[in-house]
Amino acid sequence: MTDAAATALVWFRNDLRLDDNPALRAALDAGYVPIPIYIHAPDEHGDWRPGAASDAWRHRSLDALDLDLSARGSRLRRFVGPSLPTLQSLLLATDAEAVFWNRRYEPAIEKRDTRIKQALRRQGVRADSYNGALLFEPWQLATRQGEPYRVFTPYWRAALASWQQAPNWDAPKQLPSTDRGPDGVPLAALKLAPALDWDRGFWEHWTPGEAGARAALETFIDGAMNGYAEQRDRPDRVGTSRLSPHLHFGEIAPWRAVAALQAQRTAARAGDIDAAIRELGWREFAHHLLHHFPHTPERNFNPRFDDFDWARTVAPRLQAWQQGRSGVPIVDAGMRELWHTGWMHNRVRMIVASYLTKHLRYHWRHGARWFWDTLVDADLANNTLGWQWVAGTGADAAPYFRVFNPVTQAEKFDPDGRYIARWVPELAALPTPLRFAPWRDPDALRRAAPDYPRKPLVDLAAGRDAALNAYRERGGGE
Ligand code: FAD
Repeated sequence: MTDAAATALVWFRNDLRLDDNPALRAALDAGYVPIPIYIHAPDEHGDWRPGAASDAWRHRSLDALDLDLSARGSRLRRFVGPSLPTLQSLLLATDAEAVFWNRRYEPAIEKRDTRIKQALRRQGVRADSYNGALLFEPWQLATRQGEPYRVFTPYWRAALASWQQAPNWDAPKQLPSTDRGPDGVPLAALKLAPALDWDRGFWEHWTPGEAGARAALETFIDGAMNGYAEQRDRPDRVGTSRLSPHLHFGEIAPWRAVAALQAQRTAARAGDIDAAIRELGWREFAHHLLHHFPHTPERNFNPRFDDFDWARTVAPRLQAWQQGRSGVPIVDAGMRELWHTGWMHNRVRMIVASYLTKHLRYHWRHGARWFWDTLVDADLANNTLGWQWVAGTGADAAPYFRVFNPVTQAEKFDPDGRYIARWVPELAALPTPLRFAPWRDPDALRRAAPDYPRKPLVDLAAGRDAALNAYRERGGGE
């Protein structure tokens, strides 16, 4: 390029891709030479500074984005925050006329971005943001009374009625670039990669970055999509897309996933495709709720639970749950899958969450925080919705008195005990029925797995009764 060409900063955040990237596209359409930047400012996330597993993923995803940019003649320049002063000094140093970015919806980030946009515009800089993450932005849908939705089914019905498929935009083969301005810091300076390699196991399962996201979508379409409606509840199979971290980091646009699914539509596949798109709908709903009820990562959606008799913190039990040593095999399998891979199957997330909030009667925030630190797909909207839903404190939640029995859940959704055997291998030698409830044969358990807990942290029936009593005391009725 000539040095006279007008430039714009393209501020990458949770949109770590080049295709379907509205901010990048806007910069190019306006005739700017884009200067791709990333600003590391974890302190600006309020109480929800990204967790360790998220950081590990982001490190690799930023690396992949830089490689993708470099292959097109550009590059990613990295900086360490705070965001507004960093943007302002970059505008000066590069002589850029504009800043473009794609929106995020976490309450602290929304507020920060509004302040940044106002400050930049006040100083005469073009500052424009776009929707790069959602099928429907949180404020796009409202009830007839103009209120936010609180129940998924009418929300999703309204969403489908106003559905318009966004066209896919392929990444340009070449990108103009400029050397103006500072180079930024090396990726390692962001200190995102774990110092100890506890994340080693993750990368047998995941390939962060845009190419990894596309590959996951293709694998899903060729495989688990067929039969998804039935298989999605089976943790012993690859029955779901495993797109969640890719969607969280914006390595793929949800509308690209929807278009790819719709392209496969036949009468026979319609049920599976609708079921998969509906799950993406829960992600949309979660963002709708987080935007309209920004206090819910911390506080109950349903204030009736505000003085619920949660267990006082009893650290050893919480730790046993975290470490996959609760003595309930399906719970332990889930928690160990989480630790080793940074992900857990949705059905098992529900089971472990129910066990923590009902049998152990811990406040759901304890679980949400642990997930926040350990999930590679940790997402403030989805995690908040998931925990409040299971705990019974949320919008459109499962009622508190519906307590999952982890033994019958395992029998139903892991019928051969294969998932349990994979993640709690010391129980693999037990006959299948015993894998679900090994305390029923103490001798066999002692022989097969001398180090596995002899019995669950709480007796399942007693834990259930105590939870229901606590609920009734708060005036809850069935
Ligand atoms: P698929 O079944 O293939 O679904 C496709 C996509 O739809 C997912 O990638 C995800 O983006 C979205 N989706 C699916 N189910 C849900 C759901 N119930 N709520 C919102 N979006 C959904 N999901 C996260 O992305 N981040 C979280 O931090 C998170 N925390 C959770 C905590 C609890 C207690 C529970 C019960 C659920 C949580 N979920 C979370 C939702 C769900 O478990 C994961 O999205 C799903 O397991 C991801 O696997 P997948 O990509 O194979 O899903």
